[in-house]
Amino acid sequence: MGQYHSSREQVVTICRALLERGYLKATEGNVSVRVPGQEAFAITPSSYDYAKMKPADICVLDHDAKRLEGTRKASIESGMHAAVYVYRPDVNAIVHTHQPYASALALVRRSIPALFDEQVRYLGRSVEIIDYAPSGTSFLKKNVEKALGSGANAFILANHGVLVLGGDAERAVFNMALLEKVALDYLLSLMTDEKVHKVPAPIREIAFAKLRGDEKRLTKQLEAARATAEAAEAEEAAEPPSAAGSAATPAPGALGAGPAGLRHPSLLAGSLPAGASGAQLAGYAISRYPDVPAVYEKLGTLVSQPLRPVKPAAMEEYLEYFETKCRRSKALTDEAGELIPGGVQHNLAFNYPFPLAIEKAEGAHLWDVDGNRYIDFLQAGGPTVLGSNYAPLRDKVAEVVASSGPVTGLFHEYELKLARLVNRLMPSCEQFRMLGSGTESVMAAIRAARTHTGKKWVVKMGGAYHGWSDQMVYGLHVPGTWRFEAKGIPFGATARTREVFPNDLDSLRRKLQQNRRMGGTAAVIVEPIGPESGTRPVPFGFNAKVRELCDEFGALLIFDEVVSGFRLGLGGAQGYFGVRPDLTVFGKCITGGYPMAGGVGGRREVMASFASGIGGKSGERAYIGGTLSANPLSCAAGYFAISEMERTNAPVLAGMAGDRLTAGLTDIIRRYRLPFVAYNQGSIVHLETSGVMLLDLKHPLRLAKELKPRKHMIEEMGAAYTASGLITLAGSRMYTSMADTDEVIDDALERFERVLSSVEGV
Ligand code: PMP
Repeated sequence: MGQYHSSREQVVTICRALLERGYLKATEGNVSVRVPGQEAFAITPSSYDYAKMKPADICVLDHDAKRLEGTRKASIESGMHAAVYVYRPDVNAIVHTHQPYASALALVRRSIPALFDEQVRYLGRSVEIIDYAPSGTSFLKKNVEKALGSGANAFILANHGVLVLGGDAERAVFNMALLEKVALDYLLSLMTDEKVHKVPAPIREIAFAKLRGDEKRLTKQLEAARATAEAAEAEEAAEPPSAAGSAATPAPGALGAGPAGLRHPSLLAGSLPAGASGAQLAGYAISRYPDVPAVYEKLGTLVSQPLRPVKPAAMEEYLEYFETKCRRSKALTDEAGELIPGGVQHNLAFNYPFPLAIEKAEGAHLWDVDGNRYIDFLQAGGPTVLGSNYAPLRDKVAEVVASSGPVTGLFHEYELKLARLVNRLMPSCEQFRMLGSGTESVMAAIRAARTHTGKKWVVKMGGAYHGWSDQMVYGLHVPGTWRFEAKGIPFGATARTREVFPNDLDSLRRKLQQNRRMGGTAAVIVEPIGPESGTRPVPFGFNAKVRELCDEFGALLIFDEVVSGFRLGLGGAQGYFGVRPDLTVFGKCITGGYPMAGGVGGRREVMASFASGIGGKSGERAYIGGTLSANPLSCAAGYFAISEMERTNAPVLAGMAGDRLTAGLTDIIRRYRLPFVAYNQGSIVHLETSGVMLLDLKHPLRLAKELKPRKHMIEEMGAAYTASGLITLAGSRMYTSMADTDEVIDDALERFERVLSSVEGV
């Protein structure tokens, strides 16, 4: 009896159970179990009758498909099984069959939505179709790898069969039976031509959270087993890096090295500090989704109270800092005022009391031309999740530029590499087109949506910023303000744009109904975390509801992931919320902060509208362009930045820094009994002190009266933070990065405390 007898026996037991239930026939399909505590698995042999199968017939392979035991030829799908064990530490048994009902869905390529709560609890939010590739090929293995990040336990392989995973052998068999039952129910309901109803999104999320909980527990078990085995083998077992430890800048050239065997975010997360949440283990930055109603309640209380600005004497001191310590900045930006309208080129640059001129950026810090150092929570408006001016990335980009120059106008391999990476991390992006900015990409997405649907209307959330194209300068910053900011933009340009109040699904439905009577809605565009990087956060289930409404009204769903892109996790907000948009807009996030940053990804048939090149279909295509778009510099920067974020788990580490910052700010607010509100969505941290962003046209009098003083208060707060060594976005938002070690955050909190304790009433 060999070393792996019990694993081989287990495989035979599963095969018998599946044979008895009619899920396996003759020689089709294959079954495997993980060998406990080892990087190995036991799998059925190729083309061998299940009725005759004995433990001695089972093969044992390691994760590189090297044979450890058994004489028969192993299943041709061994590579696919190995990939699952590598990428999904919670999986201990895998069954691949050609069972009839689910296989029927494989032929019509129909994924199964969330129809029953038990289904979601054990199989995942939906049972997705894995793109077709011939059996036993590395192409099929790759397609399976792409799908694994969803955390689902059942998949339908197009024109092939099904793949079902389980935390143990019994669960794999149970999941298989459950899938077949759900597939039959779904097929029957589809035959009626009636609408097939899904379970309500909140119930689905509760059920899915339970499944994620199991996966987290099983992952921890595997990690513990590995650690014990390693400790027994060698004294130098790797110490789990703390958030702070991992945040240290790796040596230049370290890009792409990657911890051995840990290739998927969910596995990389296995090395996170104890206490990491399920979402963090799955590679997402948000450890716990904010209690959205509680946040709004606190914000409501904040705007209903008198302003609590910095006391005049303290403010004088802060302004004195600028006069005495920032003389060169002042001289430069005064001169710039003569030649550059307003003295600054960038909407995010603070100009109260005057803008700072920055000379150096590195990791968590910035230095101005007068040599003053600041903690950088602007992080260029979000894209530098690795930290500013990350040396290994800079070196790689420099290498590419040294060889090809920044642009040639012709195809470069990094275009393909980046598109492939985006497609792997966000499978909704079946195709990807690189552009120059978020603004352009929003324009392009809307144009494709109109071309594809033949409809004209576009609906956005009030207050959301989607760049400055003519059609999108509408309902900007303050919900309900339609064309208030649309100076220089003819009425016709915004005639088919509409806004709805944030989070108001009823009014979205009404708007879609209205539009239907007037030709229909081409697209609903949302920032999936809520307008202005979650300044008005959305309830967790909101995006799923918007998806449902889009489907009901035949509109495309566009996710603007310009900020959330890879910051919320490598799967973006779409991966975190588990909602598949038709189109995704990228901006600064796509190049890790390097210039010419934009792109659109999405469904192949929609993206086809962009077909480019001289032979493109003139007259039919949605015209977009850009001489410098998709240049080698930007594409290489994007490819290396995102790869490095994957290797280092940067989004999760940045999220942990955001959690620490928010916890500290909340504590300061509590200790000084302030009405201010701090909350975060991972590495996006909000500190509302004036509540200006919460004003809207539902309360026009208050808006007219309070907009200016509340705006001025955040200008002052921003200046006070700056004078205290903290750069924020508009005095109310902070983006954290992987470079924000515990020491950096604790230093920042001391500085915040000095400012917050100098406000009126303390
Ligand atoms: N959408 C969102 C959500 C953004 O935050 C931004 C820029 N901050 C844009 C679109 C526009 O991108 P860009 O500045 O690259 O044009």
